Amino acid sequence: MIPFVDLRTQYHSIKQEVDAAILGVLESCQFTLGSEVAAFEQEFAAYCGAAEGIGVNTGTSALHLALLAAGIGAGDEVITVPFTFIATASAIDYTGARPVFVDIDPRTYTMDPNAIEAAITPRTKAIVPVHLYGQAADMDPILEIARRHGLVVIEDACQAHGADYKGRRVGSLGDLGCFSFYPGKNLGAYGEGGMVVTDRPDYARTIRMLRDWGAEKKYHHVLKGYNFRLEGMAGAVLRVKLRHLEAWTEARRAAAARYDALLGAAGIATPAASSVNRHVYHLYVIRTDRRQALQEGLAACGIQTGIHYPTPVHLLPAFAELGHRVGDFPHAERAANEVLSLPMFPELTAAQTAEVAQAVIALDGATQATRREAVTSPA
Ligand SMILES: *Cc1c(COP(=O)(O)O)cnc(C)c1O
Repeated sequence: MIPFVDLRTQYHSIKQEVDAAILGVLESCQFTLGSEVAAFEQEFAAYCGAAEGIGVNTGTSALHLALLAAGIGAGDEVITVPFTFIATASAIDYTGARPVFVDIDPRTYTMDPNAIEAAITPRTKAIVPVHLYGQAADMDPILEIARRHGLVVIEDACQAHGADYKGRRVGSLGDLGCFSFYPGKNLGAYGEGGMVVTDRPDYARTIRMLRDWGAEKKYHHVLKGYNFRLEGMAGAVLRVKLRHLEAWTEARRAAAARYDALLGAAGIATPAASSVNRHVYHLYVIRTDRRQALQEGLAACGIQTGIHYPTPVHLLPAFAELGHRVGDFPHAERAANEVLSLPMFPELTAAQTAEVAQAVIALDGATQATRREAVTSPA
């Protein structure tokens, strides 16, 4: 059996360090925020090339509070993509603002900068690009459009810890960057977690208050805030894991390179990783026009796969109120029907990637021309 992700193998490789860190929190009794969280905030912000990091309970809360700190609220519009995890749109919705979708680039699955301007209205306040699967969105044109229209840029970097765009680290490219430490993410807690990074001290101060009941100091609540604090155990575990993140990222990239070589030679549509970016392969996603058969065939071989994501957000029942219909964002819709995520985690061995690739090639040999066309057609 080849699992889709394998968190236990990773835990065993760092068990001594992790166990000691958790025991340290038990002794200190700093169970929420505290010194481990504060140290992790500094270390992770530095890793992202940002001045400040504010730890929160989830990546969703990071997005929610980043939007609030940027002044987003009822009546505003925020531009994002429909081909993402629902949390991106939900966080916008929590503020009272309306998510306004633009289609993706069908090669990279990230926001198509050419689609943005047509979506801007007098109510538009922010753009939330998503660095999907571990690859940065095309940020230079996005930032240029945002500056020209006075819009805030909030990066959804929940899948892209350590990814680079033209030599710059994601999270510090826009005004605010949001990360998730959900267990399965590239940097995952043993529980939930999230962080906002920013260079702006005013945003950082507001988010620090909002995550802790809007308090400036104890019981002095200057804002209507939330209980979105990051726990001490999460901070301690994440500090340990951050020290291994570069090695794990390189292991993911090596596994992706092995997949690329084997699958690419057989004409399978492999991920389009731009040479100017450092893709961190949160997910390794191929495309096929006979996905169901391929997924079932792989499952029969004991190979677990995933679909990220089967329905674009604009067609989810939860967002029916936005009034979208099939055909509104054709690239997102087509991707949702064709993407398949193969096993990807740092401990994946060469034997395992070879076994997966052989099975994919054997099962999916037939219809290569269609798939090539799908990934090379212009936006
Ligand atoms: C995981 C994820 C989130 C939400 O993070 P949580 O920590 O699960 O709340 C938001 N956006 C994207 C793209 C994600 O992958």
